[in-house]
Amino acid sequence: MIRVPILMYHSVTDRPNEETRPHSVRPSDLEEQLTYLAEGGFTPLTLGDLVSRLNKNTGMPVKPVVVTFDDGYADFHTHALPLLERHRFPATVFLTSGWVADAGADAAGRPLDDMLSWGQAREIAQTGIEIGGHSHSHPQLDQLPTEELRQELRRNKGLLEEKIGAPVATMAYPYGYSSARVRREVRKAGYFAACAVNNAIAADRHDMLAIPRLTVARHTTIGMFRRAVEGSAVPLIYLRERVLTKGYAVVRRTRYGLQRVRGNV
Ligand SMILES: [Zn+2]
Repeated sequence: MIRVPILMYHSVTDRPNEETRPHSVRPSDLEEQLTYLAEGGFTPLTLGDLVSRLNKNTGMPVKPVVVTFDDGYADFHTHALPLLERHRFPATVFLTSGWVADAGADAAGRPLDDMLSWGQAREIAQTGIEIGGHSHSHPQLDQLPTEELRQELRRNKGLLEEKIGAPVATMAYPYGYSSARVRREVRKAGYFAACAVNNAIAADRHDMLAIPRLTVARHTTIGMFRRAVEGSAVPLIYLRERVLTKGYAVVRRTRYGLQRVRGNV
């Protein structure tokens, strides 16, 4: 079985705001984590590359890893891109089209911080970073009526392809939320892979429209990071988030799940 850690980042900054703080990382921590991957012999791939290798059975590099960034914060361009370029690491950025800084008439939803412009997104794509979808206005997709859900997916994909000038084949669900209906519409909209959150290591047996990712956040120490990417076990630090993430989707099981996890700790 092929097992691939797929890392989920958000904002990369020393000055997060109240809302982005819990999910942000310091540039110096990202640098340390990327250096760990480089020295540990990992081979970063874009999500699209990983999935097409799995689908075509064309073989996998040594210790594959996928580094992803959600939402499209402006600090990806300032802080993450130079670090990725220094290591020659590809990555995937999931962009919410209605949040783009110069979205103009297409502006939708409420961006949490300064966001990338279309010009920056194009520049990023030209360096070999994959741009994936992340809905148009960042709603909880599983809560939308089907027609709105379709609009969110198609408008996002259409705008990204028009502005970037390249096909967009992968996406990540806002908040990680999906359902069988959402996944069906995602496939219909023309995506062949989509990421959730789950805080588990991805394996080739996973549904390619529900690929789990590992959260990397401000509290993630290099030790936790190492245990997560080496996949020796689900590190304890992720358990809380694992329960929270699942808790929203499987509300009735949350109480039982929390007790079970505490019991294991
Ligand atoms: Zn998001």
